[in-house]
Amino acid sequence: MKYERIRKIVLDAIEEAVAQGLVKGTSGNIALRDDEDDVIAITPSGISYTGMKPEDIAIVDLDGNWLDGNYKPSSEVPMHTAVMRARPDVKATVHTHAMFATIMAMGDNPELRPITPPQCEFTPVGIVPFTMPGSNDVAKKVVEALGDNGRAVLIKNHGMFCCGKDMKAAMAATTYTEEMAVTTFYAKLLGTYEPMPEEGEKAMKALIAADQAV
Ligand SMILES: [Zn+2]
Repeated sequence: MKYERIRKIVLDAIEEAVAQGLVKGTSGNIALRDDEDDVIAITPSGISYTGMKPEDIAIVDLDGNWLDGNYKPSSEVPMHTAVMRARPDVKATVHTHAMFATIMAMGDNPELRPITPPQCEFTPVGIVPFTMPGSNDVAKKVVEALGDNGRAVLIKNHGMFCCGKDMKAAMAATTYTEEMAVTTFYAKLLGTYEPMPEEGEKAMKALIAADQAV
């Protein structure tokens, strides 16, 4: 099978996302860019992730053209390919409809602030206004909201989009963004909301960057 390595990584990641409750049914999609060839492995469209095999993961080029796989690629392929074209540092992308990220994207001031130290790696979290799913328009707005260094954005009335230098990093961004949304939701509900002070966030970001540079 061609591109077996990246297909298996994508399959493992979607299974992990289902196990964590970040993905339900056929919602959500995950992509990984090959290091040598400019191709992307991406979850297929409308197929249950239960019992999925590596050959079911679609292969597309950087413009989203379907090259290989038993099923056509996710309808959100423009979002994943647009981010990978704009950000050569990004090798893996994860889009989910995780419940608390979706809830916290609503309202006039949906900014997510870190509550715990590991969450500092993924702030600031951008906000994308509602745009039709699967469109080039939503792809463009996700690229803009991520900017040069962003790792996570919330998409109103839809979900979130996260990225990283590899699948582990993209999955960590997804897990911690949802954790940030869960902790923020409950703290605001209890009236005890108290995000990390900005100086603390800055110091944590420096620590994390230094650790990753080693
Ligand atoms: Zn979606």
